Amino acid sequence: MAFAISNLKIRQQVLLVTLPPIFVLLCSVALLLYSYWLALHTSRSTAQSLESVATGEDVLRTVAEIHMGVRGYVLYRDRAMLATYGELSDRLLTGLTRLRELEGNDSPQLKDIDEVQAAVTRWKTDWVNPTIRDVDRGAQLDITRIKDEGVRRFNAVRKPLLAVIDADRAENQASMRAAEQLMKRMLIMALVVAALVALIVLLVTREVAGLLEQPVRQLIDASERVSRGDFKLALPPPTDNEFGVLSQSFAHMTGALRQEREELAALNRFSEVVTQCTSEGEIYEHILYSLRDRFHPRQVIIFKLNSEENFLEAAATLAPLPAELQDWPVIPEPHNCKAVRMGRRFRVNDVMTEPLCPSRFVPPGEGSYYCGPLIAGGVIIGAVRVEGPKGLWTPERESLLESYLSGAATALSNLRLLESTKEQANVDELTGLYNRRFLEEYARKLIAMARRKEQPLGVIMMDLDHFKERNDVFGHEAGDRILRHFARTATRAIREANLAARYGGEEFVVMLPDTGQQSCMLVAERIRQAVERMVIPSGGDKPMPQVTVSLGIAIYPDHGHGLEDVLQAADKALYESKRAGRNRSTLYVPAEETAS
Ligand code: GH3
Ligand code: MG
Ligand code: MG
Repeated sequence: MAFAISNLKIRQQVLLVTLPPIFVLLCSVALLLYSYWLALHTSRSTAQSLESVATGEDVLRTVAEIHMGVRGYVLYRDRAMLATYGELSDRLLTGLTRLRELEGNDSPQLKDIDEVQAAVTRWKTDWVNPTIRDVDRGAQLDITRIKDEGVRRFNAVRKPLLAVIDADRAENQASMRAAEQLMKRMLIMALVVAALVALIVLLVTREVAGLLEQPVRQLIDASERVSRGDFKLALPPPTDNEFGVLSQSFAHMTGALRQEREELAALNRFSEVVTQCTSEGEIYEHILYSLRDRFHPRQVIIFKLNSEENFLEAAATLAPLPAELQDWPVIPEPHNCKAVRMGRRFRVNDVMTEPLCPSRFVPPGEGSYYCGPLIAGGVIIGAVRVEGPKGLWTPERESLLESYLSGAATALSNLRLLESTKEQANVDELTGLYNRRFLEEYARKLIAMARRKEQPLGVIMMDLDHFKERNDVFGHEAGDRILRHFARTATRAIREANLAARYGGEEFVVMLPDTGQQSCMLVAERIRQAVERMVIPSGGDKPMPQVTVSLGIAIYPDHGHGLEDVLQAADKALYESKRAGRNRSTLYVPAEETAS
């Protein structure tokens, strides 16, 4: 039954369940009412029959009184004894009329009553009235006849009257018994109805509770499971009633919750992964593929603001850029990017109808795009553009995308900070060259690589000439200026693959991978000559005299088997340059060669 009616509204279900019991109840009440009516009727007929008996007895008494009156007159010759005749016969007639009424038209007693009435009337007219008249006239009366006639007539009336009274009495007793029985039956019926009502209430309550309990329990179970984070729902079967609607909206709600949780988990994973990236390129990759998986866009472009903040460069894209942009994927004026200019998202829901941003990167064809700035620590470091179909951008998606972008921006900014801190630890503050600590660490790697590749590694050690004197004459600041100029000059004179470092004070080292003696000498000379050409402001009236540098050159593996050996050899060669008069480059010559 529950299944058949499960698609009805709950109110209809409850009605349907209660209808049959209510019908039974109504029938019982109708039966009870009918019994009550019967009882009422029976008691009325009992009362009527009682009254009939009383009236009959009264009539009989009146007849007896008439008879007594006649007898009195006969015995005592007392005229007064006859005086009540009229009165009594009136009472008698009234009594008979009432009795007739009570018996009803179809009563078998009517005949007797009519007979009594006729007999009394006759008695009165034919006998009593003439007798009274005769007495009044003083006539002689025949006492014996009066007596006999009186007895005869009394008997004639008494018999049918007694028959009526007896019949009424019997009738009364019968209806009393019937009433008694009816009352008993009514009592039983009332008890049965009461029990029925209780049973019906019980059944209906059970059925209604059964109707409501199962889906409610299932919903409670489901919500308990959801609260524990378990989204595998076993909801009540789909129905059209309120529970169906409720469980559908519950399913929707949990669906949305589950989706939100999954999105949050994905976002957390993304944030975790990007913070562990060791390069910007790696972070860009994660941004591209995470956004692709979450939003299914056609294109994602990550713009990077350069350090001078004078252009935005497309650093990474999900799909290849159009041919005209590939050669020069740059927005030359960063303020042309609205997201960067305003510092907040710029969204175009329909590129066909809405105004676009003025940059070179106009999305092709139709669709929508969203451009959000990458902001870290309140500083804009770039922007991300996501292109997709129309209607892609709901407030929920926008806020999710913004969370991704904010995570990405934080990771990028952290990485930059880390890189710059690392660099600071490796870089000499005054000259911007690598420091000795870094040089020694890195040089070991270069030696290992040279060993593996069986390539030479050139080392040039340099020391400024008479630097102490410059310091003394022009001051420490001028000395610093010389050091900075020298560092810049030396860096320009070498290739990018070569590594220049400040070894200490005014001593410097250049490492040249895959560079033999000849080439190394050439580089050393190039540096020396460039230093000769340096013009350095003295900071005072006296012009700064020419700055020169002495250089010593040694080659791995020709002049040493390890870093220390080669550095030592270069130092010895440098000393040789100093000794020979400074401002020169000397290639290390091993001791045995010098000796021979
Ligand atoms: P030589 O030609 O023999 O090398 O003569 P020199 O004067 O250069 O001799 P020396 O190498 O002993 O002098 C090094 C001087 O460099 C001593 C020190 O005061 C100076 N110096 C070292 N570090 C710095 C620095 O960071 N700034 C300045 N201004 N001077 C420094
Ligand atoms: Mg020195
Ligand atoms: Mg010196």
